[in-house]
Amino acid sequence: MPNNALLLDGTKVAESIKETLKERIQALGEKGIVPCLATVLVGSDPSSATYVRMKGNACRRLGIGSRRVVLPENTTTEELVETIRELNEDPAVHGILLQHPVPASIDEREAFEAISIEKDVDGVTTLGYARTAFGLADFPSCTPAAILAIMKHYRIEAEGKHAVVIGRSPILGKPVSAMLLNENATVTTCHSRTRGLPDLVRLADIVVAAVGRPRFVQGDWLKPGAVVLDAGYNPGNVGDVDYEACLGKASAITPVPAGVGPVTIATLLKHTVEAAEKYGNR
Ligand code: NAP
Repeated sequence: MPNNALLLDGTKVAESIKETLKERIQALGEKGIVPCLATVLVGSDPSSATYVRMKGNACRRLGIGSRRVVLPENTTTEELVETIRELNEDPAVHGILLQHPVPASIDEREAFEAISIEKDVDGVTTLGYARTAFGLADFPSCTPAAILAIMKHYRIEAEGKHAVVIGRSPILGKPVSAMLLNENATVTTCHSRTRGLPDLVRLADIVVAAVGRPRFVQGDWLKPGAVVLDAGYNPGNVGDVDYEACLGKASAITPVPAGVGPVTIATLLKHTVEAAEKYGNR
């Protein structure tokens, strides 16, 4: 199949975001403020530990502070909430990221809700989500914001287009649907109970895959010329889209890896810097 698709290079977009942060971090430093992201990891899931390490390393490379909190698997909801409250109170911490998923014995929603809105740099609280839906959020969830940033970088207009989002999780499918709607797209949000998914995807000008199933979106589901944004990240560095099969049909596509992933991390850094700018002087 001919490959005419524009490669949406997440590494390039991430670099351009990080470049804009350097001066801002320096300006904060001149005021004695070092932006700082606290990451909270509960348990010993190896993928979660890797994600947290990557985020901490990305902070350090840019001169952003990182505070790493690791709690044991048997942590209770109350203990986790108490840890988050301490981070809320700590003036040296500007952003808090609780790594999802936490062990099943913890009420993850209650823990997310404990994050103060000023430090909710990944848009995980209900207030953060509501503000995103209203188009008023300082810090929408990082992966949805990364998808919008890629579109903006490559001047892909959402207005008037039909966007089909596959997935409705609170940190990805739902907020990205709301953000595309705010950009004047017509949005269809699909999920595991959706009937006739391939036919719905065939109507899409923009496809966002946020399913958590490797190579789920098939090439023959795409309308020729569709833009494909693959948020998926599955074991073996595989996305939620059958990339090879979609290359010949799409007009533009994000690869996995080096697509949405690096932009998500750059967005997290950006939100942390913005939180420090906004609240650092309090
Ligand atoms: P999630 O919470 O498991 O949600 C998956 C969504 O997909 C759910 O809404 C589910 O529907 C839907 N779904 C599952 N099977 C389906 C099917 N057969 N047909 C249609 N819809 C189906 O996952 P998530 O946290 O949103 O993550 C989604 C993907 O993004 C994963 O690959 C994850 O690794 C990746 N991710 C990447 C980044 C990044 O930085 N790049 C960040 C976060 C997540 P129901 O609601 O009906 O169950």
